[in-house]
This record gives sequence, C-alpha cells and structure tokens, in this order.
Amino acid sequence: MSALMDQSDRSPLKRFVLAKKKIGEVFEQLLTYVQEGSEFVKETCSNESLENIANRSQLDEIETFTSKLSTIKEVLARRHMKVAFFGRTSNGKSSVINAMLHDRVLPSGIGHTTNCFLSVEGTDEDKAYLKTDGSEEEKSIKTVNQLAHALHMDESLDAGCLVKVFWPKTKCALLRDDLVLMDSPGTDVTTQLDSWIDKFCLDADVFVLVANSESTLMNTEKHFFHKVNERLSKPNIFILNNRWDASASEPEYMEDVRKQHTDRCVNFLVEELKVVDHRQAPNRIFFVSAKEVLNSRMQRAQGMPETGGALAEGFEERMKEFQNFERSFEECISHSAVKTKFEQHTIRAKQITETVKNIMDQINITAAEKRVVSLEEREYLIDRLDFVRNQLNLLIQDIKKRIKLITEEVENKVSSAMAEEICRLSVIIDEFRSDFHPSPHVLMMYKSNLLGHIEQGMGKNLAYRCSDAVNATVQSSQQDMIELLKPLLPSSVQDQIHTFIPSRKFELSYDLNCATLCSDFQENIEFQFSWGWTALVHRFLGPVNAKRALMLVDHNLQLTGPSTPSAPAVVQSPMSTAPAGQAQNQAALTQEELMMSMMTNLASVTSRTSMSVIIVGGVVWRTVGWRLIAVSMSLYGMLYLYERLTWTTKAKERALKKQFVDYATDRLKMIISFTSSNCSHQVQQEMASTFARLCQQVDITQKDLETEIKRLTTKIQQLETVQNRSKVLRHKATSLEKQLEEFSSQYLLSQKMM
Ligand code: GDP
Repeated sequence: MSALMDQSDRSPLKRFVLAKKKIGEVFEQLLTYVQEGSEFVKETCSNESLENIANRSQLDEIETFTSKLSTIKEVLARRHMKVAFFGRTSNGKSSVINAMLHDRVLPSGIGHTTNCFLSVEGTDEDKAYLKTDGSEEEKSIKTVNQLAHALHMDESLDAGCLVKVFWPKTKCALLRDDLVLMDSPGTDVTTQLDSWIDKFCLDADVFVLVANSESTLMNTEKHFFHKVNERLSKPNIFILNNRWDASASEPEYMEDVRKQHTDRCVNFLVEELKVVDHRQAPNRIFFVSAKEVLNSRMQRAQGMPETGGALAEGFEERMKEFQNFERSFEECISHSAVKTKFEQHTIRAKQITETVKNIMDQINITAAEKRVVSLEEREYLIDRLDFVRNQLNLLIQDIKKRIKLITEEVENKVSSAMAEEICRLSVIIDEFRSDFHPSPHVLMMYKSNLLGHIEQGMGKNLAYRCSDAVNATVQSSQQDMIELLKPLLPSSVQDQIHTFIPSRKFELSYDLNCATLCSDFQENIEFQFSWGWTALVHRFLGPVNAKRALMLVDHNLQLTGPSTPSAPAVVQSPMSTAPAGQAQNQAALTQEELMMSMMTNLASVTSRTSMSVIIVGGVVWRTVGWRLIAVSMSLYGMLYLYERLTWTTKAKERALKKQFVDYATDRLKMIISFTSSNCSHQVQQEMASTFARLCQQVDITQKDLETEIKRLTTKIQQLETVQNRSKVLRHKATSLEKQLEEFSSQYLLSQKMM
C-alpha cells in the first residue's frame, strides 16, 4: 500500500490535482471578494446621501458575477481527468483498465457483455457500487462477477447508456488523483458513433485505442477516431498494441511485426488524423500485454513474487513498456486536462477581476470628485456662517443705537405736541356742546361727556400732529433694518422677507385717559357777587392771601358763632388742598401777615388816589350829603341785582368750562412726560419686534447653515469611507489578479513535457 502511495505521490497526475486545488482556492477567494464588492456597491447605491456614486448597472453586473462564480466554482470542483478506451471487443480494453488500476475492477474475458459505457471513478466510501444512467440509486457490488452479472441482467440498460462504477479510492492510487477511466462497448458493435462521441467523449482528455497486435488496425477502429477528430481539435490519442505477449511465440518476426504496426500507427496518427507530428508519434504507440501486467500486479498485491508463475519471454520489456505508457499517459493527460479544464475559467476569472477592479476605480474617482465638491461647499458655508455671526454682532449694536435715537425723537415730538395742545385746550372745551343744567345728575353726565370730548379731540389733534411723521420714521427705519440684515439671509428668504416682516401702518396710541385723570374735578357754580366781601378780599389780597384770610375769618366765626351759610366755596386744587389741621396751625402764623398785607393795600389806596378822593368826597359830602349815600346804595343794590339776574345757566356752564380748562391744563401738564414716554415705548416696541423677527430669521439662517455644515461633514466622512473601501477592494483585485497570473504561468503556459 505504501508503495502505491509513493508511486501516486510522484505521479504526474498530481499536477492536475494541485492545479485544481489552487484554482479552487483562487475562485473561493474571488467569490468572497465579489460578494464583498457587491455588498459594498449595494450599500453605496442605497445610501441616498451618496447619490450617483455607484449605479444600478454596476450593482447588477457585480451581482451576476457572484452567481456566475459560484457556478464555475462548483463546475471546477467536479472537474476530473478523463481517459476513454476504444477498440474492438476482446482487444483487451477492460484488461488494460484493470492493469492500470492494479485490480480486477471490470469484468473481462467474458466477451461482449453490454452495449453500455462503463466508467470507473474513485469514491471516498469503503465499498464499491454502481449507478446507472438517470438513477441516483447506488447498487452495491462486491465482486467483479457480481458486476458482470448485474450488467448482464439489467435489461433496463439501453445501448449506449452510461454505467458508473465507483471504486474505493483506498484500493486504487490512480483513482485518488481525479482520474476517470471509461470503457466503451467496442467500436465494432455499434453504428451510433456520433451520438456516443457527443455524449461521452467531448470531455475526454485522452483517447486510448486498444488494438490487437495479432491483427492489423481495423477500419471500424480508424473510423471512430476520424469521427472524434472531427469533433475535437487535436485529441490526445495513444495506441496500445495489446496482446504483444503473443509475439513472444514467434520471436523471429517480432521486430518486423513491431515495425509494421508502428509504421501503420504512425501513418494513422500523423498522416490520417494529423494529431501529432512524426517526431512525437512514436511516443504515442506502445506494445504491451495488459493480461500479463494485470496478473503480475495482482500477484504483487497479494504478496506473491511478481515473476511467479510461468511467464512468457520478454515480459520485463513489455512490463516496462506498459509503465512507460502509463507515465506518458499521465503526463499527457494532466497537462492537457489542466489546460482544457482550467484555462477558460482562468481567463474568465481575470475578466471578472478586471471588471470589478474598474468598478472600484470608478467608485473611487466619483467619490473623490464628490468629496472635493463637498469640501469646497463646506468651506464656503463655514465662511458664510462666520460672516453672518460677525456681521450680526456688529449690526445689533448699530440697530440698538438707531432705535434709541428714534424713540428719543418720538418722545420729544409727542411731548412738544402735547404741550401745544394743552395750550389750545380752551378751544376744544369751547367747542363742546351738550345739555347743561346745574342739577347734580345732569352735571355728572355733562362732565363725563366733556371728558370724552377732550379725550377724542386731543387724541385727534395729537394724531394729526405726530402720527404720520412717527409712522414714516418707524417705517423708514424698519426698512433700513431690513436692508441692513437682508444680506445675512439666503436669497430665497430675501425674496420673501415681507411675508416675515409685514409692512403694516404703525398706529401710535396716546391714551390720555382723561376720565381717570380728571376724576377729582369739582366745579364751583354757586352765585358770587363780584363786589361781595369774598370777591373784594380776593381782588385786594390776591388769590393766595385771600384764601388764607377767608380761612381765618371762617375759623373765627366758627369759634364765636354759627358759620355763615353763604360762605363761598373755593375752587379746590387737588395740589393745594391742605388738610384742616394744618390750616389751624397756620392760623396764628398768618394772622400777622394778613394784617400787614391789608395795611399795605390800604396804604397803597390811600397813597395813590387817596388825598384827592377824600378832598373831593369831603366837598361832595358837604354839597350832596345823604343823597349820595342813597344813590350809592341803590347803585350797589342794582349792581347786585344785575349780577344776580345775569347768573344764568349759560353763565354757569361758562364758569364750569373755565374752571375745567384750568384744572385739566394742570392735570394734563403733569402727564406730558408720561404720555410721551409711553409713545416712545410703543415705537421702541414696534422697532424691537421688527428687529427681533429679523434676528429670528438670521438665527434660522445660522441654524440652517450649521445643519448643512454638519450634513456635509457626515457626507465627507462617508465619502472617505467609500474611497477607502473601494481602494481596499481594488488592492484585493490586484492581489487576485496576481494569483491568477501565477496560476497561468505555473500551469497553463508551461511547455508540454512531451
Ligand atoms: P475487451 O472486450 O476489449 O474488454 O477485452 P477483455 O479485456 O475482456 O479481454 C478479452 C480477452 O482477452 C480476455 O480473455 C483476456 O484475458 C484476454 N486478453 C486481454 N489482454 C490480453 C493480453 O495482453 N494477452 C493475452 N494473451 N490475452 C489477453
């Protein structure tokens, strides 16, 4: 067994086995590589942010490679070397096969057993079995006789069908090296040569013609090889002149017979078939005895001496020649099979690798281009974001200043307009018309209507004086703000800026709120005689001192007796209303002042008209006397009567209006600064809201820019990954190409040994 192993290890058939292993490994790698590449292209294709980097057709192409490669891989795994034996029945085809297998595998010597082709191939199982055409059933066979019997008995076997014999590889070295040997039914028994060739011979690497050296080459045998030669270009053909042991019985003719046979065979191969040249032809022709070789090898296998038994003369040479045949045959078949079975696939593998490499290159280039574009775009956006940020900071300061200026301007404008309007208050109040009656109820209505009239009238006048100007200022400065911030916004937003900042008319609200402001107003429309005590005090002392004097008198009267019911009411200013306690405390202090003042006034009267009046008075008194007093008294009474009669409702209304003008003037003056600052606040609010909206748009722009920059950064990273992966895959393709190149130079380009 170990001898068999040694022989097998040195066998040229190993070349095929190694080549098959090698190309199998390369295809395995190639398949994994293409699957990886296909996965990569698929991922790149389906990533929407990496649009158009890998396209659908590239993906389809690379995916079809995957299925093609796995088919080829399977085909390669099933590849074996095949030798087909032809020749007439009983020439010893089965014997040759058995001799080569060192065992009686096929039945021989029982004549024509079947019209079937019989192939022998190795199996890893321990037992031999056979399979017939179209059936997966494994029919166990224990002995050659059983096989012969099985073939003989199986009537289902058609002529020209194939019966596969599986023989344990452990029993036979030749079968371990992927060699399939095929016995044919015998070229003499059939007319179906063409269909045989098509069915069983097109994948044969070597044809062995087993001829009978006891007779000449028959036409039927030659005919078959002519047919093979038509189908295949330069088939490898060996001719075994079997039964050469028979020549030993007539040694004197042996050389002549050998020469004759050789010449005919050479002629057949070189001239007729033209499959080899003259020089190589003798290497294809052998004179052997299969029977002897088989016997000898069987004996050896059984541990008996090889030369045991009666051996014909010249056995050694015939044995050597058979071994020579085996050697030549093995070298020939392994070279031929490697080339025919692997060359096409190697070329195909190279094409696929090349195509995938190109796809990776294209992806790399496209990704690189896109990356450059994205980098530039990102650079631009970063610059833009910087610009927007800096510019916004500058503009914020500027616009704040502008708003401050405008609000100040508005404040001044409103306050001066209001001051002017307050001066014209009497006109507005004079214009007021409504039912007037001193009764409290009507008075209340009257006053409230009057307040409404003032509110409306003044509001209208203020609006007339300020609103348009303020509105124009506000709008123009809003426009300025828009113009300043516009360049910071993207053009699409710039076009629609008025939808974000609607240019509406700005209405200033003055909101004087007269009703609350003048709620304390208290009119005085009681009758007052202009020459009465109170009025005279007023006239001589002036309103401030008169008030003090009257209060003092009031006080004295209250201490001495009941108060005068007709004591005149005084128009009370809310500002100057002093609490009663305070007035009492002041009484002692002011008494002195009052006396002084009266004295001064009297003195002035005395000093100015005085002396002449007294002189005239004295003269008149003397001449006129009591009559004058009577006339004066009646004149005084008539004056009183006149004033009393003219104190009508109209006069009361006038008095009220006059009092109201004074009162409202004071009150409104107090709220000038409040109202103007309220107006300026409104303007400030309006401007600030416009500015805030603009800033919000700028913020959105900044955020959009930031998002876009982020998106581009991710995209750039993805593109880098794609580039790196495509480069890695390209390198893998190069290394596979190298391996394929090595395979080609090692197995496909080397010169044939024979
Ligand atoms: P096949 O029909 O071509 O397969 O021929 P077989 O192998 O069955 O052989 C037919 C007969 O020829 C058998 O009886 C063999 O023993 C015999 N035979 C085969 N080879 C030789 C040989 O080299 N010398 C002699 N003397 N007989 C042989």
